[in-house]
Amino acid sequence: MNDINVWDKVIDEYKEVKADRYMGIFGYPIKHTLSPIIHDTISDEYLLGERYIPFEVDSNLGEYVKSAYDSGIVGLNITVPYKEKVIPYLYDIDEDAKKIGAVNTLVRTDKGYKGYNTDMEGLYRSIKEAGAEIKDSEVIMLGAGGAARAVAYMCKKYGAKKIYIINRSIDKAKRLAEDMNEDASFKAFIPVPVNAYKDIPKGKYIIIQCTSIGLKNEAGLPLINDMDFYRQAVFAVDLIYNPAKTPFVKCMEKLDIPAINGLKMLLYQGIIANEIWNDIRIDDAVLGKIYSKLIKKLYY
Ligand code: NDP
Repeated sequence: MNDINVWDKVIDEYKEVKADRYMGIFGYPIKHTLSPIIHDTISDEYLLGERYIPFEVDSNLGEYVKSAYDSGIVGLNITVPYKEKVIPYLYDIDEDAKKIGAVNTLVRTDKGYKGYNTDMEGLYRSIKEAGAEIKDSEVIMLGAGGAARAVAYMCKKYGAKKIYIINRSIDKAKRLAEDMNEDASFKAFIPVPVNAYKDIPKGKYIIIQCTSIGLKNEAGLPLINDMDFYRQAVFAVDLIYNPAKTPFVKCMEKLDIPAINGLKMLLYQGIIANEIWNDIRIDDAVLGKIYSKLIKKLYY
């Protein structure tokens, strides 16, 4: 008997919302999520009668997943700190998500939820759209946390030639590199301690900023405070999108290097999740509408 009810976890602003079908997001904290903008706009544009509810889940994740399933919720996103922890509570997991080791989307099946990782495809789509190419590129990743796992797997799946992973805790960079090098035909991932960044051969790199430095608008560059190092970038991505201009993005602009923040990644991971939930294709006009709503929510 499960006494836990997921609807007790709805954040205050959503308590009175009514719909035919519900989707939602589990995380902690969750108040500032932008995801309802994505999914509620899609529902309104395609007359789907759906609403997307943020649930502030602070404990008992497994019971809340079960309660969401029992109460008919058709899809969930999973965010910090549960992308890895949710895996034991899934009925099934998509192959890519399994290899990444993190799930951000649950899809209802007859027997339970199936987990996917749409962060990875969302990031790839945002990079392609900006005109950069992962295939045969050399990449430097800053960070080796949860999100970095999806980034590393994207590099592997889409054929990056060499990937250097710099992280404050070198053990995490080593573990990530080992996981990604497993069953690969050649060892493309190389962990690098922060103080050894000059050992990376001079070259032309896509630099992907995957740490949480910049989220609080801190001064200073993430991990490496050396403009010459960043000058090697031919294209740059910061996974952070709020503030819109992170210290990393500002640094790239100063050097005249094309750079994007993580807003399109956020948009596309949501679009891909919604396309799976509703079995639809979301057209460019709707994408544009959602994007203009999202950018208004950022601070500059
Ligand atoms: P994690 O907490 O799992 O990882 C944080 C990373 O940042 C680690 O590599 C950590 O290093 C590093 N880090 C944090 N603080 C410091 C510091 N003071 N000095 C040096 N390194 C530091 O977070 P996630 O991987 O889940 O998320 C990372 C960022 O990506 C977040 O800011 C998040 O907003 C963004 N993100 C964006 C998404 C999007 O859709 N655009 C999707 C997912 C995430 P260490 O291992 O040494 O602790």
